[in-house]
Amino acid sequence: MSEAGGFEKLRREVIDTGLCTRCGSCVGVCPPGAIEFREPLGVSLPAIRDSAACEGCPGHCYTGCSGGAVHFPTLAAFTHGRQPANPYLGVFQSLYVGHANDEHVRRAGASGGIISATAIYMLEHDMVDGVVALGANREEPWRFEPRIARSRAEVLECAQSKYSISPANVILRELDKEAPGFRAAFIGIPCQVHAIRKLQADGHPAARKIRYVIGSYCGNILHFDAVRGFLAKHGVADYTAISRLEYRAGEWPGKMRVTLVDGRVLEMPKFYANYLIPFYMMRRCLTCTDLANEFSDISGGDAWAPVYEERGKGFSLIMGRTDRGQRVIEEMIRKGRLTVEPVEEGFTVNMHSHMLDFKKRGAFLRIDAMRARGKAVPSYGFRPVTPAPFGRRAFEVLLRLIYGVCSLRLSQWTVAQLPTGLTGRLFEQARRRWKGVTKSTKRKGFSEIEFTFEPPRQTVYQLPAEELGEQSAALAERAE
Ligand SMILES: Cc1cc2nc3c(=O)[nH]c(=O)nc-3n(C[C@H](O)[C@H](O)[C@H](O)COP(=O)(O)OP(=O)(O)OC[C@H]3O[C@@H](n4cnc5c(N)ncnc54)[C@H](O)[C@@H]3O)c2cc1C
Repeated sequence: MSEAGGFEKLRREVIDTGLCTRCGSCVGVCPPGAIEFREPLGVSLPAIRDSAACEGCPGHCYTGCSGGAVHFPTLAAFTHGRQPANPYLGVFQSLYVGHANDEHVRRAGASGGIISATAIYMLEHDMVDGVVALGANREEPWRFEPRIARSRAEVLECAQSKYSISPANVILRELDKEAPGFRAAFIGIPCQVHAIRKLQADGHPAARKIRYVIGSYCGNILHFDAVRGFLAKHGVADYTAISRLEYRAGEWPGKMRVTLVDGRVLEMPKFYANYLIPFYMMRRCLTCTDLANEFSDISGGDAWAPVYEERGKGFSLIMGRTDRGQRVIEEMIRKGRLTVEPVEEGFTVNMHSHMLDFKKRGAFLRIDAMRARGKAVPSYGFRPVTPAPFGRRAFEVLLRLIYGVCSLRLSQWTVAQLPTGLTGRLFEQARRRWKGVTKSTKRKGFSEIEFTFEPPRQTVYQLPAEELGEQSAALAERAE
């Protein structure tokens, strides 16, 4: 692909239009390594060092991008060999709530430690040679970077959710250097997984080294300014004073905790720290429509339900999606690595109904509003066809207004001046009241939404039949 068809196209259609998800794929797949993230603690956008490098390049930076076009029907056909019966959750085979049985792993994890436990299990049982996970940079511990973990200790070092922008897919560059037979598991959030699946479907050699995708639920990610704002509350102006940054430290649901080089520890309970979301959320998350990491083999989220929250410790929601993912979960249960209880589909949707409404209805309302204003929008190959009730649309206008006001520098500065406890309490009260007032509006018509799906597109590469289920293998055969 020439310059006009490669990075230049990406820049014009995705980066300059605000559609970049910061997944990091373009950096990871650039053969000469000519793309880099500029201002990683600022806008964090890819830029090219030398555009001459695009000459003759296949242009995977564009074709594997998760920012502009992510065709859900194609990715569902590619990953699962079928389309979802439940468009809120995606294709799945099993639903459980549970936790890792190893107390150390459970405690290290963001919720039940199931993602780390699965990664460790895969390494210990020689199912993979390495696991892509996100850990703190050793010299700059306020910044997270992907690495290939090869031991239990290395996986645990990467445990927990990191809510600041961290372009994990730059790791494709390292995977490319591994021997052709290298078998990797990949842990990532939905936008990162979209790119991995797109690249796999395109036959990209580094992406094809990924045998298992363990996906985390994701509501949104934050700009690094969230950390600066949090520090400002404590009178700390210099982020390089951070020696450790944790978003889910301690007992579930955990605390946002910053440890400083001088030994001071600044912290805030997770639900209080959620105040950062409207102020610092990456705007592209407003038009993302995948909460549950639909194209992973196994996905996991927090089990947000009073029955689990009251029990203390951490509980995760676990979804077995593909045959190979389901096999691993069943083995882990049989071998006493996980304690789980099956949960109903309706219960699972209900558990995250707020975020599912945000992603499966709200995102499309926002996309329509942006399109009407002539702005670039992502395309997903599916959309709801049931019109949203008036109340839901009005609620959306209010929400956009709140996000608009909160993202102003003045608002960010003002909130940074308020004492931590006061901000947290105010936010928590506002959140509870907001939830109560908007609950019926968000629920109205939610479970009856009908979606329309475009037909899946042909992919270059098919996952080997033995990696797909029987049904998927039959579909793959028919497609040939
Ligand atoms: C940005 C973000 C937003 C989330 N939003 C929601 C939500 O709205 N609702 C919900 O139920 N759950 C959400 N989660 C998932 C939740 O926080 C837990 O990760 C999940 O419950 C699994 O917990 P665990 O204990 O099994 O994970 P752990 O055992 O702690 O493993 C987590 C793994 O994810 C990797 N990881 C962490 N952050 C990132 C990142 N930014 N990019 C790539 N890999 C990463 C870590 O390296 C680690 O390997 C979110 C996670 C993230 C990262």
